[in-house]
Amino acid sequence: MAQPFTCPHCRAHDYTIILTGCDVAGATLQEQFTWDEAAGEYGSGGAVILESESVENEGGQALCTACEKDVSEAVSAYEEQQAG
Ligand SMILES: [Zn+2]
Repeated sequence: MAQPFTCPHCRAHDYTIILTGCDVAGATLQEQFTWDEAAGEYGSGGAVILESESVENEGGQALCTACEKDVSEAVSAYEEQQAG
């Protein structure tokens, strides 16, 4: 049985990984546009990679979805534990 990742700060199991400086090959990206009535223009949360052949990146950061703290080290440790 696989164990979920647990945030060391708030014990939540959901996290988001943000990759910067990516070199992405063969990717499919999705960008969602939401009409902002007050601003009178479309807003976008940015493009999301749905699928890719390979992603090379310079830096990555993991954030807990619940408390938004940096959980990069905890996620790395979790992934190593899952692999081993
Ligand atoms: Zn948390």
